[in-house]
Parts: sequence; C-alpha cells; structure tokens
Amino acid sequence: MEPSPGPLPALPDAPAPLRAALEEAHDEPARAAALLALARHYREHTLDTAQQLAQAALELALPLDDPALVVDTLSVLASIEEGQGLHESAFDHLALALDLARTHGLDDLRSRVHNVRAIVRLTAGDLTGARRDFLEAQTLARASGDPLDLANIHVNLAFLEQHAGRAAEALHQLNLLEELLSTAPTDVRQLMAPYLHENRAATYLGLARRAHLRGRADAGAEARGRAWAALAATWAALEETPSRMMSLVLEAHTARLHVLEGDLDRALTHAQAAMRHHREARQRSYLDALLAMAEVQAAREQLGAAHESYREALGIAREQGRHRDIQHLLRAIAELHERGGDLGSALAVTREALAEADTTLERLAAIEQRHDDLFRELRLARAQARDWKESVRHAEEQARHDVLTGLLNRRGLHDRLLALPEGSGPLLVVLMDIDDFKGINDRHSHAAGDEALRAVAARLREAAPPNSLLVRWGGEEFLLLQPNADPTEAYAIVEGLRRAVAEHDWPTLPPGLRLTLSAGYAFAPTPAEADVRAATEQADEFQYRAKRAGRNRVCPAPSSSIPA
Ligand code: GH3
Ligand code: MG
Ligand code: MG
Repeated sequence: MEPSPGPLPALPDAPAPLRAALEEAHDEPARAAALLALARHYREHTLDTAQQLAQAALELALPLDDPALVVDTLSVLASIEEGQGLHESAFDHLALALDLARTHGLDDLRSRVHNVRAIVRLTAGDLTGARRDFLEAQTLARASGDPLDLANIHVNLAFLEQHAGRAAEALHQLNLLEELLSTAPTDVRQLMAPYLHENRAATYLGLARRAHLRGRADAGAEARGRAWAALAATWAALEETPSRMMSLVLEAHTARLHVLEGDLDRALTHAQAAMRHHREARQRSYLDALLAMAEVQAAREQLGAAHESYREALGIAREQGRHRDIQHLLRAIAELHERGGDLGSALAVTREALAEADTTLERLAAIEQRHDDLFRELRLARAQARDWKESVRHAEEQARHDVLTGLLNRRGLHDRLLALPEGSGPLLVVLMDIDDFKGINDRHSHAAGDEALRAVAARLREAAPPNSLLVRWGGEEFLLLQPNADPTEAYAIVEGLRRAVAEHDWPTLPPGLRLTLSAGYAFAPTPAEADVRAATEQADEFQYRAKRAGRNRVCPAPSSSIPA
C-alpha cells in the first residue's frame, strides 16, 4: 500500500524566494529541496503546514537515489513533530534516519540526527538520554570537523547543563565554543555568536538567582554584573543577524535581572516587550515571555495575574507534550499558591506534578520499547525489501498501523486527518469497546484474546462504511471516523457495526466464545484536531453510558437528542 501524501497545503505568507524556488523547480530533486526549505520555514510558524510539506518532500525524495536528502528530510520532519508534541513519531523518523545514515556512512548527517534526537529527548524530559545523544553527536562532529555542527552541539550541551543546574559545566562548554568560533569561518561566527553570549547570560542569571535565594549578596552582584555584560554582548552580536526569537529571550532575561535588582517597573517594561515579540511571532515553542511575565507579576504581588500567565504557558506546554516545561511550571504554580497562603492548592498542584512525572516515565519507557521494536522491524524490512528506499517506505507504512490488527494507529489517523480535503465535515466519530474482554483473556488465553482482537478488527473493516477510517484506539477499543457523514443515518451505521460483531459466528475462535461491543458516537464539525478530539471525548462519554446501561448497545439511541 502506498502512503497517501495528501494535497499540498495552502502556503499563506511564504517568503517570495522560497515560493519561487518551488514554482521554478522543474525536476524532482529541485522540487524536493524546495519543499524541504519551505518545511524549515513553516516550522517556525505553522507546524501542521510544515509537517505536510516535509512529508511531501519525503515522498519525492524517496524514489531519488539520494540517501543524504532522505536523512535530512527525516530529521526535519522529526524536529517538526517535536514541536507538535508527537514524540513517538519523531523518534520513529530519527531511528530511520540514523539507520540510513549508518548504512550509507553519512557520519556528518548522523551527528545532526543525534543532535535533533537529543533535543526531542530534552523536551520529553529525558536529560540523561539527551546528554548521551549530544555526546555521540559531538564525537561524530569532531571526526567530520564541521565547525557549525560542533558549535551547535556546544550550545546545546551548555543549555542542557544549565538546566540541569550545572553552571560550571555550562560555562565550560561555552568557553570551548568561544575558542572554536575564534578560528571558525565568518559566517559560522556571525551565526553562532549570539547563542554563545545569550547562553552565558542565562547561566549567570541562574547563578545570580541562586545567590539571591541563599542570601549571598556579593556573589549575586558579581553574577548579575556578568549577566549584564553577556546581555550587552548578545545585543551587539544580534546586529549582524537579527532574530525575533532571540530578542524575545533577551527581553525576558532583562526583566528577570531587574526583578533581582528590585526595579520592578523596568522589569515590567521588558516583560511586556518580550510578550510583544511572543504575540507577533505567532509561534509557540518559546514559553519564556510568559514565564518572565509571570515572575514579574509575582514580584509585584499580582498573584492572580501571575497564575494566569503560568496557566497559559501550561496549556501550551501540555498541548506540545513538553514534559520538562510542564514540571517546571507546576512547581512554579505550587510556589505561588504557597505564597498566597493556599496550602491546599499547593499540595494539589504538587500531586499533579508527581502524577505528570509518572506519566513521563511511562511514556519514555514506551518510546524506548517502540524504538527497540522499530529497529527489529527495520532489520526485517531491509531483509524483505529490494532496496533501501522500499525498506524506508515499508517502515513508514508500518509506523502508521497497528501491528496486531493492521488497522491505523493514532499516528496514522493524525496523518490521514491532515490529508483530508477541507469541507470534509461533519465527521461521525464512533468509539467502540469490546465487552468483558478481560474475561475472554482469563477464560481462554491471551493468545485467544489476540486472535479475537484480530477477528473483530477484520469484521469491523468489512462492515465499516466506504471511505471511513478505522483505528485501533487502545487495547480493545476501536475508533471509526466517517467524513461527510449524514447525522440522520448515524445511529443506523453504528448499530450496524454493533450487530456485525454481536451476530457473527467466529470460526477461528474457541467454540462458545461470544463477542459484543458497546459504542458511543458524536460529530466533529470539521477535521481539525481540536474538533475531532472534542467529538472523541463526547463519544467516549456515550460509550461509557452504553456500558453502564448494560453493554452490547449503542448510545445515544435515536429517540434521545444528539448534541451537535
Ligand atoms: P468492559 O466491558 O467494561 O469494557 O470490560 P473489559 O474487561 O473489556 O475492560 P477492561 O478495561 O477491564 O479490560 C480490558 C482488557 O483488555 C485488559 C487487557 O488485558 C486486555 N487487552 C488489552 N490489549 C490487549 C491485547 O493486545 N491483547 C490481549 N489479549 N488483551 C488485551
Ligand atoms: Mg476498554
Ligand atoms: Mg472493554
């Protein structure tokens, strides 16, 4: 089966040169490169558009005999998915990229892939894994000697060490970077100098705060002095290469330094400047403006406003699966509650932080497991495929489907939703859960349970309306999504699915085994992710009602009204 790339998205406000490059691209390599450049551009703005572009670039790049282009495309795709909070697929694509780079001896690219994977691990909350990847990237970059790669890795390691509370290590990395830049080509120096100074500023700011908390006035004053100097150096370096994101971060640092010096009016002015950049950039991967604003508001005793800023940042962080940021935010919110004397809420938020940490660990374990599985699948795919391109396709396709049932998995659904044409609404969303499935496992065997899942999936596939998407949503849960649905036919469709399962004889299953399911359904007005998510939650609620009402039924029944 060929993966469906879907139509190209509309490209509002694409820079003219990038658009021209795409229009003037007359062969596949040029077209793939133009799409990739556009994907890089949209990564800073609209992540879904960027993802579609990178996916289209991958489709074009695969038939060309250019593994380096494919590796490059896969790592851009992964870094986009990182921003979308799709960590599993980011890891999948990076595993593919690493495998390809290794088999083709593309060591400079391998270094870049490790670098991207380290960043994904960092956002996902895995500092140890991130450090491992950065060090691997560093070894490879040293061997290939690319100064830009080496410089990037120093910056990233400094960032990691600083966030792990190891200021001395961070400063060491920055000194190495300065040494490297002193002999690097001018363009590399100009590009990287702002990062050198900004990271120094951030590290000294961290030291100044620590000194402040411990009441060490001298050390605090010295660290602040160094932070101011590094900030000035960053602004100077930015004159060569202006960057809105960098300006945002610098304003945020400046606001925090003023807080430490007790000048709350100046602090507010700079926090507001950071917020202006934040809004104008319309990109959401830097939470720093919101954080600085919250800190300034808290220092000004505006605790309610500070809570709001933190909650807004938390919403973004949750949407993007930024677990490291979520932890930091929950701690800050708990502290605010404590300051306001609300110990009950402080405790509740601390519990939330602990639960979040557990979820993160579980997710990381699942990702590692998936990673091992994927490498096994890749080896298998390579053995079966005629060439490496086919093995990449195969792995791509597999990563979108559930191994046991062959239905789409959640990632597959995400991609299919993006590829739906506009005006595909309303969509019927059905959640189905097999009844008493645990009993089937217990009474027969886990293997019989697996066979039953496969059989039900096959039956649903036969009974599903044409053009609908069928997803294995969880263990014994299935989701069906039908674009352009007619609400007056919904009940009959879902009831048809229920009966298809309930009234079937199962020739491949142990005799006497009965299988039924309970279903809930709802409508999404458009295929937008938020709409589909809301409809799925509603369908889940109805599915739960069907269970409570005695199982083996569909909810809502036609007489009751269906909220749109
Ligand atoms: P209910 O009618 O309320 O849905 O009861 P249930 O037993 O179906 O629901 P419950 O959530 O308690 O149990 C679901 C079971 O499905 C538990 C889990 O062991 C089993 N399961 C989940 N995934 C798989 C799988 O891939 N293979 C097998 N054999 N069992 C699975
Ligand atoms: Mg269930
Ligand atoms: Mg069940």
